[in-house]
Amino acid sequence: MAAGAMNRWTASLADAKPVSYWLDDPGRPEARPALTGDERCDLLVVGGGYSGLWTALLAKERDPGRDVVLVEGREIGWAASGRNGGFCAASLTHGTANGLARWPKEIKKLEQLGAANLDAIEDAVARYSLDCDFERTGELDVATQPHQVAELREYYAELSEAGLADGLELMDAQEVREQVASPTFQGALYDREGVAMLHPAKLAWGLKQACLDLGVRIYEHTPATRLASHASGLAVRTPYGRIFAQTAALGTNVFPSLVKRVRSYTVPVYDYALMTEPLTADQLASIGWKNRQGLGDSANQFHYFRLSADNRILWGGYDAIYPYGGRVREEYDHRPETYAKLAGHFFTCFPQLEGLRFSHAWGGAIDTCSRFSAFFGTAHAGRVAYAAGYTGLGVGATRFGADVMLDLLAGERTERTELEMVRSKPLPFPPEPFAYTGIALTKWSLARADDNGGRRNLWLKAMDTVGLGFDS
Ligand SMILES: Cc1cc2nc3c(=O)[nH]c(=O)nc-3n(C[C@H](O)[C@H](O)[C@H](O)COP(=O)(O)OP(=O)(O)OC[C@H]3O[C@@H](n4cnc5c(N)ncnc54)[C@H](O)[C@@H]3O)c2cc1C
Repeated sequence: MAAGAMNRWTASLADAKPVSYWLDDPGRPEARPALTGDERCDLLVVGGGYSGLWTALLAKERDPGRDVVLVEGREIGWAASGRNGGFCAASLTHGTANGLARWPKEIKKLEQLGAANLDAIEDAVARYSLDCDFERTGELDVATQPHQVAELREYYAELSEAGLADGLELMDAQEVREQVASPTFQGALYDREGVAMLHPAKLAWGLKQACLDLGVRIYEHTPATRLASHASGLAVRTPYGRIFAQTAALGTNVFPSLVKRVRSYTVPVYDYALMTEPLTADQLASIGWKNRQGLGDSANQFHYFRLSADNRILWGGYDAIYPYGGRVREEYDHRPETYAKLAGHFFTCFPQLEGLRFSHAWGGAIDTCSRFSAFFGTAHAGRVAYAAGYTGLGVGATRFGADVMLDLLAGERTERTELEMVRSKPLPFPPEPFAYTGIALTKWSLARADDNGGRRNLWLKAMDTVGLGFDS
């Protein structure tokens, strides 16, 4: 890499604020006061990201008379739900390919439920006036290397054969460049219906307001530190008082679960993103992008990118960093070497935007599990339900997970609880040093496959065989 180019990329980052662009918003609502003294409720929801917020909201929709309390350790939406790319996908399985490989018998059902879930999110956005820049633009999965073009074709053929290609369109280099002009694009698979773009933090804040309007009591800066069975219900300890609840739903994502046995199913993987300053009309014209789709490239180490409502470009992904020991720590939220790498890749994709600067750069932890899609379960004789493991595709799927948790707490058999995906668990991650070593070897192998025409080495083939994977 030429030193001059490196300096230009570093210069493009010189003014970038080290905070999520989405959370750096004058409209960020005040936190609700913390708990003071003991509380009682029918349902306690732990966690104020999308998972907890949807659970509280849907619980009230199902039964308006239910007394619901939500506790959040810090502020609503401060974690992954306020830092993500804002790709709200119908897929419940981290992409159809992953779902088809793992649950071939029920993938059609999973896709139907996922599409209905995305429709229900769109409906809730309208019904509750959630001001979150929701745009059902679809997504372009772009190939930037010849072997990726061949893989997209094969994948499209496989989906067509399985009857799963509705709404998908294969594009050649010229067709995709007419949509978004990058000299690196060699083909694409366009999903017109199955993905929406939104403002992540505004979705969390809107859901918070909708919950409050339905009578949910929300306590922020109130971490739940212990959960135990108590008399005929549950007792949850916080630093400011106890909460006695009949049932509890845990939407605690990558943070240590209050149900200890669940912890080994996920590891934190840090993902990073940049946001540019707003593009001028000329800059926007130079890249086209009239249909405002989200984009992702089809490498193992992939980038995702999209326009914001005010025509900035969010550019994220590629590096997926697993810290030894698997802890969630603020010091991992920023990684200047990843920012420089991402800036370089950005200008390779869009050389016509040379001179554009980044206004924000940030990272966040993803709850990666070995099957890349959420798992569910109950504890404390069915009084506690949990959902986690969304692995980088939880903006939409957390709403489905909320419904599953409520089904499980109600003891109801539904089309959701009957799914093998819901009834089975992922393989757990081993303890250190095996987790770090295995993940490092997998990452190294994935990078080599990207540089090597997509060819998977023996390690990756062995991992594929046992269904163990690593992704962000
Ligand atoms: C950089 C980045 C980019 C991403 N991009 C996308 C994307 O484009 N599309 C997509 O679908 N997904 C994306 N994701 C993933 C997506 O953001 C998550 O799947 C989703 O936000 C998960 O929501 P959640 O509510 O489970 O978790 P979170 O938003 O992490 O919320 C969990 C909350 O629980 C609270 N909590 C934890 N433990 C306790 C406790 N004991 N007591 C009280 N509170 C507690 C935490 O403080 C936190 O607020 C991305 C993630 C990252 C980090």
